[in-house]
Amino acid sequence: MRLRTKILLSYLAVVMIGLLVISVSTTFVAPRNFAHRMEMMMDDEGETEHGQGRGMMGNGSGYGPPTEAEINQRFRDALNESLLWAGAAAIVASLVISTFVTWRITRPIKVMVSASQRIANGHYEERLPIQQRDEIGDLLHSFNQMAESLQQTEAMRQQLTADVAHELKTPLTTIMGMMEGLEDGVIEANPATFHLVHQEADRLRRLVQDLQELSRVEGGQITFNRLAHTPAELVKFATDRLAPQFADKDISLSINIPPTLPPVRADLERTGQVLINLLGNALQYTPSGGHVEASAQPIDQSIRFAIRDSGVGLTEADLTKIFQRFYRVDKSRSRTSGGSGIGLTIARHLIESQGGTLWAESAGLGMGSIFYFTLPLA
Ligand code: ADP
Repeated sequence: MRLRTKILLSYLAVVMIGLLVISVSTTFVAPRNFAHRMEMMMDDEGETEHGQGRGMMGNGSGYGPPTEAEINQRFRDALNESLLWAGAAAIVASLVISTFVTWRITRPIKVMVSASQRIANGHYEERLPIQQRDEIGDLLHSFNQMAESLQQTEAMRQQLTADVAHELKTPLTTIMGMMEGLEDGVIEANPATFHLVHQEADRLRRLVQDLQELSRVEGGQITFNRLAHTPAELVKFATDRLAPQFADKDISLSINIPPTLPPVRADLERTGQVLINLLGNALQYTPSGGHVEASAQPIDQSIRFAIRDSGVGLTEADLTKIFQRFYRVDKSRSRTSGGSGIGLTIARHLIESQGGTLWAESAGLGMGSIFYFTLPLA
């Protein structure tokens, strides 16, 4: 039952109890009270008559039958007294009911106040029991949801700090080790050594760059200049930049985009960045002699882009995890290639911010992968 109905019913209950008590009182108590008063008056009259030998003259001064005014007075007294008792009973009833209703409303609010103070002090595991099915129950439910998302955010923050520390540690340790080896003369100061140190420093630079980009994307600080672009134009933006690397690694790159496809509403550079990331991954995780294909086709009110490769493929479990930040399937392999595991997280944000979705499919390890994303039509 909703709170509004409960409060309304409690008011009605108080009114009903008041009416009931008054009706009982005027039906049963008041007549008896009146009869009792009349009896007492008659007794007084009798005593007066007997003791002083006066006849009942009915003149209101102790002689004769009671006058109409005296009867009216007794009736009013009897009624007033009964109503006084009835009023007292109704007040007690309304006090009991309103105290109960107020307690039912204020108790969960007090509990919530102390729970929110505990959350403010960092106890994010705080949850409230929900017994009510009214607006108060809804409020407690929302409170628990808020606590849940605060707890998740806090866990993510802690995880991110731990991940960043871990990611920074590896190249730094390598650089430190190299420098110490050079100082001690254990490692030779030749171009190969300098190249290794340079590689590690470059990895750090890329990691910091990716983190900056990630925080800008997650903080919604990136502005999108969304204009009408044909799918072919977007894909060309990326393939023009990556074609030499595909040729170097001897991986064939084919583009299968019908020229009749309508344009999508997208930011050329940001979408190009996503395509470069997906094509770059396809290039990286496909052995030499393999094949990569970029295609697009209309689906509902959007265009679905697909980057298909004949590479190492992904397991069912990895298909969702790869979009989490810092997740890499083969840590050592992608580490040597410089991957930070943030690329797909950023890519998904960039696509979702433009009203699309990004996901991956694969038939399994060694079976290649397909990365899909959609963009709304212009
Ligand atoms: P990274 O910089 O490590 O490539 P990404 O976020 O781009 O980071 O990718 C996360 C992980 O997803 C990669 O480390 C890799 O294991 C896996 N992955 C991405 N693309 C592919 C692909 N085309 N084929 C197989 N695995 C892939």
